[in-house]
Parts: sequence; structure tokens; C-alpha cells
Amino acid sequence: MLYKKCKKCRRYGEKLFLKGDRCYTAKCSITRRNYGPGIHGDTGKPKKMSEFGTQLFEKQKAKKIYGLREKQFRGYYNKASKQKGVTSEKIAQLLETRLDNIVFRLGFAKSRNLSRQIVNHGHILVNDKPVDIASHQLKINDVVKIKEKAKANKYFINIPKTIVKDSVPRWLEVNSKDLSGKVIAMPGIADMDHSIGMKQIIESYSK
Ligand code: ZN
Repeated sequence: MLYKKCKKCRRYGEKLFLKGDRCYTAKCSITRRNYGPGIHGDTGKPKKMSEFGTQLFEKQKAKKIYGLREKQFRGYYNKASKQKGVTSEKIAQLLETRLDNIVFRLGFAKSRNLSRQIVNHGHILVNDKPVDIASHQLKINDVVKIKEKAKANKYFINIPKTIVKDSVPRWLEVNSKDLSGKVIAMPGIADMDHSIGMKQIIESYSK
């Protein structure tokens, strides 16, 4: 485990923050800050990849970031393609409004892996009811809270200090005093914290 490097970051050419803070250290070989808001097509992929290779690359990267298996990811594509509106925006919305993602985006966990564990361990309330399903989909006005009992846990005790309000996305509202957050708008591609080639992902599924 010692000197473990960010292998996945190197493969995908950008900081993925799969292990949270590790990407801020020298263990992450990626120095470029190219994980800003999602921009179509502008990804860290190596040049001269075949069309198929690019589609696969973008799909694998997205699955890695959100911690999803192929079946789950395809499920989001299927669901999104049946909905009204732009499929790529709908996929982004489905991914971003997962409970584990929102816990991460509110700053309650340093990585999506960790936020999933927090949800699975039953530390989260949605609209004052316990929800331990990471894939639970949130809607506008839903309120996410860390359980009162869990706040005494040494993991959560420092969180109010680490939440940087500016880093919370515009579609979420955070209350760092009581460790709660609210969905105030529906997110889209522009709200993702990584640029993901949605076009390529859709092409790969719509064949
Ligand atoms: Zn890294």
C-alpha cells in the first residue's frame, strides 16, 4: 500500500479523486487541473484512438468516476433515452442526482467511494427518513442530512470546517452548521465535475 500511486488517474489522464485527498499529493502523477466543469468532447483521452476506442474510453472513465458497473450505467442510458429532452443531459442528471454523488458534492465525503460507504452504513437521512441506497435518486427540494448520532463520529466531526461553500455546485445548497443539503435545481452536463464524452457514450450504446 505504501507509495500507492493513482493508477486510474494516469490511465485516464486526469485527476479522478477516487481516493479523495490522494490526488492532491505527489502520489498522483497528474498535475494538470483539467477536471473543471464538463465540456463536450474536450477530454484527457490520448490522441489517435479509434472511434470504438474513444467510445470505450469515455464510457470506462465515466463508470470509474461514478463507481458504476456496466449494467447500471447502461440502465441510466436506457432510462435517459426514453425520457423527453436531450439524452446526454438526462444521463448527467441521473448520475449527478444519485444520493451517493450528492453526499460527495455537498462536501460530506472526500471521494465518491467514501460517500457510498457513508450512505451504505446508514448515516444519511433524506427528507428526515433514513435511506441507505446509494443509487437513490433525488429530486428538487429533497433534503439530505447526516444523522444526529453519526455526527459524533470522528469522521464527521471535522466536516463543517472542510466544507468550502464555493465548491458546492450551484444546484445544491449546503448548511455546514447542521450538515444538511438541499437540491435546488436539476443538474446537467455543465454541472459535472469532470469532462465526460457524452457524445461517445451515447454512440456506443445506440448502435
Ligand atoms: Zn489521482
